[in-house]
Amino acid sequence: MEKYSVIVIGAGASGLMAAGRAAEKGAKVLLLEKMKRPGRKLMITGKGRCNITNDLPVDEFITKVFPNGRFLRNVFSQYYNEQFLALMNKLGVKTVLERGGRYFPESQLANDVVEALQNWVRKLGVEIRNDYNVDSLWIEEGKLKGVQIQQKKIKAKYVIVATGGLSYPVTGSTGDGYKLAESVGHTIVSTRPALVPLETDSLLPSKLAKLALKNVNAIVWQNGKKLAEEFGEMGFAPSALTGPIIITLSRIVVDAINEGKEIEITIDLKPALDDKKLDNRFLRDLEANPKKKFKSIFSTWLPSQMVPVLLDYLGLDGDKECNQITAKERKEIRKAFKSLPFKITGYQSWDKAVITAGGVKTSEINPKTLESKKMPGLYFAGEVIDVDAVTGGFNLQIAWSTGWVAGNAVEVNKE
Ligand SMILES: Cc1cc2nc3c(=O)[nH]c(=O)nc-3n(C[C@H](O)[C@H](O)[C@H](O)COP(=O)(O)OP(=O)(O)OC[C@H]3O[C@@H](n4cnc5c(N)ncnc54)[C@H](O)[C@@H]3O)c2cc1C
Repeated sequence: MEKYSVIVIGAGASGLMAAGRAAEKGAKVLLLEKMKRPGRKLMITGKGRCNITNDLPVDEFITKVFPNGRFLRNVFSQYYNEQFLALMNKLGVKTVLERGGRYFPESQLANDVVEALQNWVRKLGVEIRNDYNVDSLWIEEGKLKGVQIQQKKIKAKYVIVATGGLSYPVTGSTGDGYKLAESVGHTIVSTRPALVPLETDSLLPSKLAKLALKNVNAIVWQNGKKLAEEFGEMGFAPSALTGPIIITLSRIVVDAINEGKEIEITIDLKPALDDKKLDNRFLRDLEANPKKKFKSIFSTWLPSQMVPVLLDYLGLDGDKECNQITAKERKEIRKAFKSLPFKITGYQSWDKAVITAGGVKTSEINPKTLESKKMPGLYFAGEVIDVDAVTGGFNLQIAWSTGWVAGNAVEVNKE
């Protein structure tokens, strides 16, 4: 019978970190990964650049975490961004700080982070087995004995579940950890896609697909009440709104839709100008060019891809002269610029979601060690836990920190 002190299930961000830390403490560690290689999801993070962490202090960081960032306070007091950056430095991965406090590897290659972590755990003596899909925990007489893969049992004193969530299932995250947790009596807070493009019945996104809008303001409305807003960059995909600010807003929109609420998002294309200033600008341009075709002036106000689409939306003839644009038409144009409406009809599925909301209920996990309160010796790390954050390197920092704390909690000398 094979015997280890620690088995880590899942060689993603949190699993690599948990395995490395447990091995640093002297534990004999087996890291089991169901895919052909570790870190499949890590490879695609940050569009292949891997936004490894964020420089926000803990107090601000936890406000970016749902549903309860305070659960992570103790975890972060043990291992936070400076420790991870120091580890990267030690492993030879230089990092750079970019806009929004986001850290990336200087090489801009997620692969460098994956390689460095793999080499680190291997050097520490962690045995990695790929193509190993853990079916169940091995429990005997109510006690944790190890893990089971089909009929094969592997013994371990501690098991760390680092199986990720449900998003991007092609990377190996197919929700297995929830079943493992449920099998020992854990509650799973309902899982749903988060940080996901939002679907709309508007015809505009299909016509604007691939356009990226910068410095716009997106506002979420429910029955005329403003729920949230975000300023920054967004994009369009066929029948969907996407891009950073939409993805961020999706965290509350998905829940509102699931509660049956009617949601509209309006886009302010000119947030720096109020209605009056915008009208002054329009009037000035139109009056300075009375005989020019309206579309030639309209195109100085917008990205070129939007010009025919918005002319069509407004029912305006772009060939008419600027001096023929009426005050009523100007008002309609301003309305479209300040408050372009999109009825939100749903959200895209797991294969487009950056993160999973929901997971193993935090009140059933010891916040100091991440040990299960239901099954001694069982630990959780990463996305499998019911915590998720906005974009900006926060989710990976959660994975690094929870992985380290779970790996650190094993008591090697008491084995
Ligand atoms: C497209 C995309 C881009 C992202 N970009 C960023 C970013 O730039 N910055 C950021 O902070 N976050 C980003 N994230 C989120 C981040 O990737 C996750 O938060 C993080 O990977 C979670 O780490 P984890 O260890 O919990 O899970 P994962 O990294 O998903 O690892 C889980 C591992 O467990 C394995 N596994 C699952 N079940 C089993 C089983 N039964 N047996 C054995 N192995 C199993 C899986 O194959 C997988 O390798 C991004 C996510 C996506 C989808």
